[in-house]
Amino acid sequence: MTERTRTILSTDETAVFSAMDAGLSPKEISVKLSKEEGYIRKTQSRIRKKIDKELKKAANMHRLQFTDNDIMRDQGILKCFDWVINTYVFLVFTPETGILIYYTHDCSNNCEKACKETLDLIRTERGVRVDDKIRSLPNKIQYEHAFEGIRKQKG
Ligand SMILES: [Zn+2]
Repeated sequence: MTERTRTILSTDETAVFSAMDAGLSPKEISVKLSKEEGYIRKTQSRIRKKIDKELKKAANMHRLQFTDNDIMRDQGILKCFDWVINTYVFLVFTPETGILIYYTHDCSNNCEKACKETLDLIRTERGVRVDDKIRSLPNKIQYEHAFEGIRKQKG
């Protein structure tokens, strides 16, 4: 129940995005990457536009319902709804893999492993920390935890 598309950020943009994801301010990012703060701000605005476009493209491709308010640009998450199977769908931007799509569901034996792999990919690429207590919970709860973690990092 997950699908992947390809990455859209350049190497420079990926470095800025990862620093943004860790909660750094433009000034902090400029120091970390030894670039001007103005350059960082411009890059951030370009990243937001790219992510916005990719999230919308993926949602439309999968015929998912959403409004502009559902797009969390800074977080790179779009929460949509699929009226055909009647479930919420989360689109998550990851710098290396692109948009990862998660349909809210209770895992069966058939998808458990694949869903866990996608979950780990989201956590790794988006720097979401997870302790053992969370790891023992059902995938569905762990996904919610991961999305919540991404939202929190960005303040
Ligand atoms: Zn599953």
